[in-house]
Amino acid sequence: MAYSYTQISQYLRCPRSYRLRYLDGWSEKDARAALVFGRCFEKALGEYFAQRDCTAALQKEWGVFRDAPFKYRKEESWDRVLHQGIRLLEQFARDARVEVPCPTENLQVKITHALPGGRDFVAYVDAIGELDGQRFLIDWKTTTTRYPVEPAGLLSLDPQLICYSWISGIRDVALVVFVRKHNPEIQYLKASISETQCQEFEGLLETTVGQIESGQFSKHSGIRFPMNGCTTCSHLGLCLANPEMVDAKLTRRPGASDLDWLDQLEE
Ligand code: SF4
Repeated sequence: MAYSYTQISQYLRCPRSYRLRYLDGWSEKDARAALVFGRCFEKALGEYFAQRDCTAALQKEWGVFRDAPFKYRKEESWDRVLHQGIRLLEQFARDARVEVPCPTENLQVKITHALPGGRDFVAYVDAIGELDGQRFLIDWKTTTTRYPVEPAGLLSLDPQLICYSWISGIRDVALVVFVRKHNPEIQYLKASISETQCQEFEGLLETTVGQIESGQFSKHSGIRFPMNGCTTCSHLGLCLANPEMVDAKLTRRPGASDLDWLDQLEE
């Protein structure tokens, strides 16, 4: 068994939710359109760096889900999402700020770290390349809202970037945010992660794995605004013992989720 950032962050958000998903096998019935589109878009980016037709790749990948029963947001549709994605790819090519040499080696880079006790921690880094001519570890995000940029330095607190910086040893990190809105926009956000942050993350990781392995799965509910984690938690029906909610949202599969290894591409 190996741990991923997604698992650790889910445990830190709510240990009960972690147990319900990873140990008891409760996962959401419907994949969300935004999450699936993010994966399709990432594959199209791979084609861009391989100097192949990324627009055709996006149409092909996203085309698989044309009739999928996604619940789209208001004013969103399969066509509209595709159109936004194509405009973002075109903008990305025009900007020409990111280069990934040897894309087969430097995209979706798997890095493994051995944890005390014999477990592994595995991360898939989106890209190691250059942004504006400088070497960065790069994470792609697709979203419908801009990432906040104020106050200055905010991005250096991003736990996923700290995790990837720690495991890769690369301290200059960047988010390339593809914002799907009326006028699509790309944010190129840079940050530096310190050695202290990496050491703190490693300590947090080891503590968290220790808690998981010793079976600590208490509820971390947070129903007060704006700490409303429960209201957006897919496991709310289980915690409220509400069979209708469970039936509407969840399905139970034996074993761990097949999403364990994915980056958090969702919004
Ligand atoms: S509903 Fe709240 S307490 Fe229950 S698993 Fe989700 S976040 Fe945790």
